[in-house]
Formats: sequence, structure tokens, C-alpha cells
Amino acid sequence: MTVKSFDRGVFLPHYKEYSEHEAITTIVLPEEVVIPLQQHIGAPCKAVVKVGDQVKTGQKVGDSDAFVSAAVFASVDGTVTAVEPRPHFTGTDVESVVIKVDKNQQEPAWTERDISAMNGEEIKTAIKEAGIVGMGGAAFPTHVKLSPPKPIDLIIINACECEPFLTCDHRVIVEMTDAMVEGAKLIAKVVDAPRIIFGIEKNKPDGVEAVKALAEKEEGIEVVELDVKYPQGAEKQLIKAAVDREVPPGKLPLEVGVVVQNVGTAVAVYEACRYGKPLYERVLTVTGDAAARPANVKVAIGTPIGHVIEECGGFKEGDKPGKVIMGGPMTGFAQTDMNVPVVKGSSGLLLFSEEMVAKTEHMPCVRCARCVDHCPMFLYPNSISTNAELGRYDEAAEWGAMDCFECGICVYVCPSNRPIVQLVRDTKKDVAARAKR
Ligand code: SF4
Ligand code: SF4
Repeated sequence: MTVKSFDRGVFLPHYKEYSEHEAITTIVLPEEVVIPLQQHIGAPCKAVVKVGDQVKTGQKVGDSDAFVSAAVFASVDGTVTAVEPRPHFTGTDVESVVIKVDKNQQEPAWTERDISAMNGEEIKTAIKEAGIVGMGGAAFPTHVKLSPPKPIDLIIINACECEPFLTCDHRVIVEMTDAMVEGAKLIAKVVDAPRIIFGIEKNKPDGVEAVKALAEKEEGIEVVELDVKYPQGAEKQLIKAAVDREVPPGKLPLEVGVVVQNVGTAVAVYEACRYGKPLYERVLTVTGDAAARPANVKVAIGTPIGHVIEECGGFKEGDKPGKVIMGGPMTGFAQTDMNVPVVKGSSGLLLFSEEMVAKTEHMPCVRCARCVDHCPMFLYPNSISTNAELGRYDEAAEWGAMDCFECGICVYVCPSNRPIVQLVRDTKKDVAARAKR
């Protein structure tokens, strides 16, 4: 099979060996879960429960009338003890529903449905009712993505997991293959797409084999093996590599007739349609050179990250923790508060020792153009960052800051350790704030 890829990007060390063979396990529930009312791109939810309410696992605790939003659910049986702002992985406080976890948990009772009898509209309604969002990290509401204004002829299931260290998608691919493939078929049915491609990086040969074994029995499902290159899992790069279609700058994949969904999202879609199960738990990877027991664990959304880390053995003895990152090493967010909860888009918790974490100062740009040579979006990260640094956000936007999807490659290759992604985020915030006025 030909291995495909895209232009530019970088070859990073994989560091998958810590956890890639660790089967998905569960952990003991914490004493309290914190369900942020904003876990997605779009309008935040409003709480639909109040302090003192008894809630059951899978019960809706927050919702919104806005189309671009996604409901949130209790991930445990328990009692609502607060509806208040709580720390969020982005570094801000976000209005959240706090639930004290009952000692006795009841297994939720789901009603099985015949998914083959569901039409596209019914599937989309089930997805919306389950509060499903893109679980690769972007957290865009799935029912919105599946309402394209143009015809779609291809669904690509993003099975790349191109960031180093992360292995939760890999485990989902090999352990939940049937549910993932069924979910992909349901997604395709919503938009009437006749073709499904699973794009998998070649460092997951067992994943390639598992999906191929099922795909061979199905009409219109293919597996495309991709090079191990970052950011292979970014939508535009994945589409280019898999089917050689170019998504124009500032446009979405639907412009070229494609919808991309993550493997975890496909499983969530299957569970929502088959059992009516909302998205209240997810698989994430706990790993890094300072992780005592690297693992892939299914976690109740709202679990504090400190509890997840503890349940996975904590930090390695003798290793002074240098950094904890939620997400991947390239796009994740450093965390200082261990009470921050796991959310729908949390793919990993990376525990790094002090030795692993480079602590270098930011230096002026030396105009080496390495960032320009490697940017997968063909932008000028040097010009974006120098303008943003001087508060010239309009100029930074003209150099393409709004097209940047914050992959972090420019920071990785920059010899001056320039905080380019942070400056891109500052630009986007400034442009968005001025657009609202
Ligand atoms: S400018 Fe944006 S898209 Fe380009 S390499 Fe930097 S972070 Fe990635
Ligand atoms: S890689 Fe860094 S130093 Fe080189 S041009 Fe880009 S921003 Fe400047």
C-alpha cells in the first residue's frame, strides 16, 4: 500500500512507546466532578439543574438554544453542590455544575435501538441530544458539522493521532473497531456521503489491520495509510494527503465535499444512536517521562486531573514534575491547578520531568525563515509574531494569523524560541473583540 502525506510539516519523535500497548482501563470515581458549561466551540450552556438536585449519570445538566452549542451531562450519580465559576484548562474560570459523587452508583439503563432503521435526520438528532463534539481536541459540535450547506461525497475518519505521546485514539481504533466503523457509517448516512476513508498513520500497523479487516467486508470504506508526520491529523493536511483535494485558505473542508471526524467521535455517535448514551466520559492518555504508570483510561468527564494522575500512580519516584500538559505536546495547555476537570476534548495528560521541559528565554527573531519553511499553512509566522508583539494586530491578521490553526511547528523549529502561537492567539482575541464592538 502506498503511504501518503502532505507538503511541509515536521517529523517529530513519536514517544508513543510509553502507553501504546496499554489497554483501556477505568479508574475509581473522584469525590466530586466539575462539569464546565462550556466544553465546545460555540455558545456556552446554561445550567438546567440547581444546587441540591439529585442527578443521574447521563442526565442533562446544561443546555443552550443556540444551534452552535452542545449540551453537557452528569457523568456520575450525585448531588449538585454548586453552580459557579471553576478553573478550566484554558486558564480562565468557567461557569460549571459541581456534583458530589454518590457512594453507590447505579449502572445507567440504556434502551437499545435498531440503528439500521434510523434515517439521517434521526441520527443527527441523536447526535445533538447526546452533546457530541469533535473529540480530537477541537470540540466543534458534531451536529453542526453534519449540517453542511453543500453536498458531501466523502467522510474521512481521522485516525492519525499525529501528536507525540498520545495513544488514546490508537487504543480506540484497535479496541473499539466495530463501534468506530458503525459510527462512521452513521455519520456518512447523515450527509448522504457514499465513501468513507479511514486515514491512519503507519506507526499503528495493528490499527490499519483491524480497520482493514472490517472495511474489506463493507462497500465504500477504505483505509489510507499515512506517513508519520506532524500535523498529519490536521483537517486540511489530512484531506490533501488522503485524496489530494486542497481546502482554500479561510474555507472549511465542506468546500471540497469532505467532512472529517475523529475516531472517538465516531464511537460516541455509535453509542448515542445505538443506546441513546450521551457524551459523559472519554478515553484519554496519561503519559510522559515522569508518569509512574502510563495508561489509557476511560474517565468520567468532570474528573479533576489531579485525581486521574493519582489513579495512574502519580509522578515517578524521584522525578520532580516539570510540567503537566492537558492535550498533546504541540497543541496542549500547560496546567498548574490539579483541580481542572477533564472535558470532552481532553485527549491526554502529559507528565514531564524537569529535564524533559526546555526552559529557554524568548529571543528576538533572527530572520532564519525556518518557521516559514515548515508552516503547513504556508504562512509567515515570523511576520505574524513580530507585528503582534508590537500590538499591530491588523498587520498580524493580514499576514494570515486567522488562518493559523496553532499547530506549534513554528515554535518547535524556531531557534529563538519565539512565543509565536501565543502571539497568534493574542491576535485572534483582539480581532474577535473588535468585531463584537
Ligand atoms: S503559523 Fe500557525 S499553522 Fe503555521 S506553523 Fe505556526 S502554529 Fe502552525
Ligand atoms: S524561526 Fe524564529 S527566528 Fe527564524 S524567522 Fe521564524 S520567528 Fe524568526
